[in-house]
Amino acid sequence: MEHSHAAQREASAAMDTDKLAQEMTERFRQVLSTKRMNELTSRSVQSRSSSPAPRDFGTPQPPPAHNALPPSYSSLRNIPLVPQPPQDARSVRFKNMLHSLSNMPIRWENPGLLDEALRVVPLEQIYNEAEEESQILQAEAESLGTGKKAAWGYQDCVIRALLRWFKRSFFTWVNNPPCSRCYSPTIGVGMAAPLPDEQARGANQVELYKCSVEQCGAYERYPRYNDAFVLLQTRRGRCGEWANCFSMLCRAVGSRVRWVWNSEDHVWTEVYSVHRKRWVHVDACEEAWDKPRLYTEGWGKKLAYCIAFSVDGAMDVTRRYIRNPSKYSLERNRVPEAVLLHIMDEIRAMRRSNMSKQDKFRLEGEDMRENRELRGYVISSIAHDVSKISADDILNGRSSRSRPDPDAQKALEGRTSGSNEWIRARGEGGRGTSNQRSPHDQHPR
Ligand SMILES: [Zn+2]
Repeated sequence: MEHSHAAQREASAAMDTDKLAQEMTERFRQVLSTKRMNELTSRSVQSRSSSPAPRDFGTPQPPPAHNALPPSYSSLRNIPLVPQPPQDARSVRFKNMLHSLSNMPIRWENPGLLDEALRVVPLEQIYNEAEEESQILQAEAESLGTGKKAAWGYQDCVIRALLRWFKRSFFTWVNNPPCSRCYSPTIGVGMAAPLPDEQARGANQVELYKCSVEQCGAYERYPRYNDAFVLLQTRRGRCGEWANCFSMLCRAVGSRVRWVWNSEDHVWTEVYSVHRKRWVHVDACEEAWDKPRLYTEGWGKKLAYCIAFSVDGAMDVTRRYIRNPSKYSLERNRVPEAVLLHIMDEIRAMRRSNMSKQDKFRLEGEDMRENRELRGYVISSIAHDVSKISADDILNGRSSRSRPDPDAQKALEGRTSGSNEWIRARGEGGRGTSNQRSPHDQHPR
């Protein structure tokens, strides 16, 4: 094969120059990584001290360096220092949309309904499983020596057990509802106006399907319920319904929870791990726990925005989900970055307006810690890119040859066999999601 000859030639050429290049590479790596780290550190120091805004309005930021390697991190890295209120109509629309999305977790804050919700959950089974798993994790940690902490705490294990139950025995994925007269598959024929009782239960949209069997021809309605408590009864939907209902149940069992909206038409959950002191990615549709790289490295999707909303805050968590921005980042052009910062500040302030000083202070500390965590992902991604540059590439002035990313493998772990079919069935396979969707509906399905 021509291709393998070429590869062989390339490999032997690389070996010849290996010794000579090795030293150069090392030096180059050091220079480059020191430079990048310095740049990042100085930026992060600036931005940490940036409220109130530093007096540098007149000094434009220097343009990003245009070295060929590593690739630029555009919007994800060049975080502007000063939040700016939205000015143009487009920015105002985006702001209004985020404000409206941010209401989702508020709708779960109903103690009576949350208690009621727990009646459909096999609590004893879930608590037993959690107890058992947390004991195993504890024992594992102890066997590794003193000072080792269990991977997850008890409450994390409660959510893990809830997740298994939810996906395996409770909720059903429905693209096209089957015909309720003859159980045959149906074909989408558009949207219908919600009936009064559908509307009363929170369905603003109803999809209409027709039985594929000609003699039957029955119509099937698929109301898209937006109310997590109604979903406890309907127990079906696409990712919107899954994330809504599952997140509410996480709340019901006492976890702090976030609803994460993604601009590429997906939603999922984050729960706060008190044990790990950080937010953990949870995707009920995928039974995925702490696999934030699933969408990019796992599915090959490109993402622009991932915004997390909770009852007491809002956070742009995109950097948690895109660890390799040069490969998986979509252009963030919905709003200038400075405006997005402003909108996030605004939503946070609104959520916290009635809180005590101490609570606000605690949450601000948490936000800062999370920002540091998210910045850390960018730094390690840059470090990883730098370490991928081979001597050969430097000598020949080529761009980096890609090597397998060990962490990318992690993103794929835990995908059961058959999960490819699952993804295909859901129409979530990478780009080009083909869900029927009305252009006016900004909300994910
Ligand atoms: Zn039928």
